[in-house]
Amino acid sequence: MSKIYDVIILGAGPAGLTAGLYAGRSRLSTLIIEKGQDGGQIAITDEIENYPGQMVEGESGPSLISRMTEQAKKFGAERCSDVIKSVELEGDVKKLVGAKGEYLGKCVIIATGAFPKPIGCENEGKFTGKGISFCATCDASFFEDFEVYVVGGGDSAVEEAMYLTKFARKVTIIHRRNELRAAKSIQEKAFKNPKLHFMWDSVVVRVDGDELLSSMTVKNVKTGELTTIEADEDDGLFGLFGFIGYNPNSSLFEGMLDMENGYIKTDDNMHTNIPGVFAAGDIRVKSLRQVVTAAADGAIAAMQAEHYISNH
Ligand code: NAP
Repeated sequence: MSKIYDVIILGAGPAGLTAGLYAGRSRLSTLIIEKGQDGGQIAITDEIENYPGQMVEGESGPSLISRMTEQAKKFGAERCSDVIKSVELEGDVKKLVGAKGEYLGKCVIIATGAFPKPIGCENEGKFTGKGISFCATCDASFFEDFEVYVVGGGDSAVEEAMYLTKFARKVTIIHRRNELRAAKSIQEKAFKNPKLHFMWDSVVVRVDGDELLSSMTVKNVKTGELTTIEADEDDGLFGLFGFIGYNPNSSLFEGMLDMENGYIKTDDNMHTNIPGVFAAGDIRVKSLRQVVTAAADGAIAAMQAEHYISNH
């Protein structure tokens, strides 16, 4: 019979790792299950400058997350890599079934986060990984001295576009409106960057190329005009990065947990509609999805799990 953990945490981003730290520190037997690398969205974030107390020059998502992972481990949280395929959340013992085994816990904290939204243009699948990317930290170096386009106008698009200017010869943000959604402080930096250009009121409707992305059709949403952008002849290719928001990783819980647009509903104490099941971080319905709010959710969820176990 499998061990029954006090708490099983699904997802090792800032919410899950903070929950692991708090649960471990409360002497709860804790298992963190993650399907990929630790960190979630911040594992692919180049620069973190708004996590309180974070003033280390050049702090990146991966460097912050590796310290969070160490801290959770230090307090006894176990870590396992598996892809969970199904869950049974009702009852006193919750069951998670993964590709590698079954996991039992008195409580479950869901911190599965969200994944990047596709750009939504024709042929996107064909060129993903062959010119189209959703991770500047991972793929920027492939475009050293090439031209790069970034779709989106939020914090992610603008920050990642600025990061890309360290590699690419020229970076153009393609945004569907004529003003950015990104925070003003981020915009100020962007407008000062000489390698950063803007294509307003525009969306990418189609991408083309032989093996690699070398052409795309952009539509002006105000005039309907279609423009074809071809790679520079000497380059033969260009990069296209999508940063247009995220979709929640919640399909496992459909029909079990109350949700809004795929995000899990909780109360202020991270309780879902099932006793002993909590949600934390970007997967929740909330107004601000940041590392600091994810970490706060994780801490609250772990302490509520501790209360739940003590009162059962
Ligand atoms: P976001 O804030 O939701 O912005 C998405 C952007 O993509 C918007 O500009 C939106 O245009 C555009 N967009 C959405 N759907 C589109 C489509 N189908 N076609 C073309 N463009 C589309 O997403 P995000 O930038 O990924 O940020 C997510 C959250 O993380 C936010 O809360 C953000 O503040 C936070 N974040 C914070 C930081 C930081 O503080 N350093 C860094 C990264 C992310 P419209 O503007 O027209 O809607």
